[in-house]
Amino acid sequence: MSHVDTLARELGPIVHTDAERLARHGRDHWMLAEIDAFEGAPRALPLAVIEPTSTNEVARALALCRALRVPVVPYGGGSGVCGAIQPEIGAVALSTRALAGLRRLDATDLLAVYGAGTMGGDAERLLEPHGLTLGHWPQSIELSTVGGWVATRASGQYSTAYGNVEDLVLALEVVLADGTVLRTRETPRAAAGPDLRQLFLGSEGTLGVVTEVTFSVRARPAATRGQAFHFASFAGGLEPIRRALRGGFAPPVARLYDARESRRNFRDFVPQGRALLLLLHEGPASVVPCELEHVERLCREAGGVPTDAAVVDQWLARRNHVPSFRSFLEQGVVVDTIEVAATWSRVGALYDGVVAALSAVPGVLAATAHSSHSYRSGTCLYFSFAAKPDDPRRLRETYTACWQAAMQATLAAGGGIAHHHGIGRVRRPYLAAELGDAGLGVLRAVKRALDPDGLLNPGNLIP
Ligand SMILES: Cc1cc2nc3c(=O)[nH]c(=O)nc-3n(C[C@H](O)[C@H](O)[C@H](O)COP(=O)(O)OP(=O)(O)OC[C@H]3O[C@@H](n4cnc5c(N)ncnc54)[C@H](O)[C@@H]3O)c2cc1C
Repeated sequence: MSHVDTLARELGPIVHTDAERLARHGRDHWMLAEIDAFEGAPRALPLAVIEPTSTNEVARALALCRALRVPVVPYGGGSGVCGAIQPEIGAVALSTRALAGLRRLDATDLLAVYGAGTMGGDAERLLEPHGLTLGHWPQSIELSTVGGWVATRASGQYSTAYGNVEDLVLALEVVLADGTVLRTRETPRAAAGPDLRQLFLGSEGTLGVVTEVTFSVRARPAATRGQAFHFASFAGGLEPIRRALRGGFAPPVARLYDARESRRNFRDFVPQGRALLLLLHEGPASVVPCELEHVERLCREAGGVPTDAAVVDQWLARRNHVPSFRSFLEQGVVVDTIEVAATWSRVGALYDGVVAALSAVPGVLAATAHSSHSYRSGTCLYFSFAAKPDDPRRLRETYTACWQAAMQATLAAGGGIAHHHGIGRVRRPYLAAELGDAGLGVLRAVKRALDPDGLLNPGNLIP
């Protein structure tokens, strides 16, 4: 009897083998997978898609797959952009999508408990009638699941005030490779040894399957106001962000675009050659004007020239729109985004180094960046590149060369190689340099301890 037959017999109707579902669960939004599909390259599909409807079913599925030595690739929304989902031959996909919905809401403790397969947009809409919000707005909110956010250490567009997913998760339920269920305690903080939630935040399906996520939610803000300025240089525009955070102010949105991105996206609001800073202030009605005025002063002191705040509304209206990769490939152009991070004193060298390294790759048409998630000690730079190789059959080589250039330049500038998209397969060759030998040794030891047979998402994340 084949493994699929055994899985179907033991697990019943949650095991699916229809071709459309297998194809849908065979990849994520990684550009290289898109190139393969565009070029018609053959790729492995999962043997089956398992769609458990409860934690118990996940536990039974994982225990059975372990007994059969069948690799398992957890699958949320499939919106990852790093090639974290690419089932090896003989693997099954485990979709979390039937583990969906708001299971409990406590308006006093501000807790919202979701099944891990709840789509981000649904999670937010379920809070709306209660005057609450997650405060987590990734651009992919309608494409991704709350469990996927945990597994990739996702960031939302409002993270500068509200934090990234690791700051919003209060407790987790995770099924381990042998079917054991781990639940972390629902408590606002603990000094009870290492924080076990952190093991699974960013584990990208390699250490367990997240089945339930408890968020600490927040009241919807009473007031919201935007403002915008443009600056003579990118570095000049970073300065008021740094100073605002240092002074204890945290606008949820503080996005600074370099001159090329400013013109590309906001032509009507910014003169040629200037870097545009968008700011959104949110919070209690008495606090918002105070923050707005203080940050406005910092911007003017740094040489910022105010522009129409309607540009913030334009950004809000279009912020989740992304053109399809396919439309670029059809023009012989490969594009991607690469988000990295550095402390303030290194950001200038990081920006210059990565733009120069990308621009030196043959065929590169544009290499640009914006700063989108900031901290007291540094910021994220989100680079975009577009390249058109002379020979259209060299899309893959050009893409890989761009990533290599950007990763090496990031490391040379002392930056961190991944701010929020994760490692997957695209960054895996650079993880050893990021973590160092000792760090990689610890990660491998954790993997061996939690998944000794190496069955959870093999080939992903860990070099
Ligand atoms: C247009 C677009 C915009 C994006 N914008 C953002 C953004 O603003 N911020 C951001 O952080 N990211 C963004 N991303 C990337 C992506 O949406 C995030 O990485 C997201 O968190 C992935 O969630 P998912 O449910 O789609 O996970 P998937 O793509 O299904 O999986 C991602 C990884 O997590 C694992 N995994 C998924 N669910 C679980 C689970 N329950 N338990 C264990 N492992 C699991 C998978 O095995 C895989 O390794 C964007 C992507 C796209 C396509």
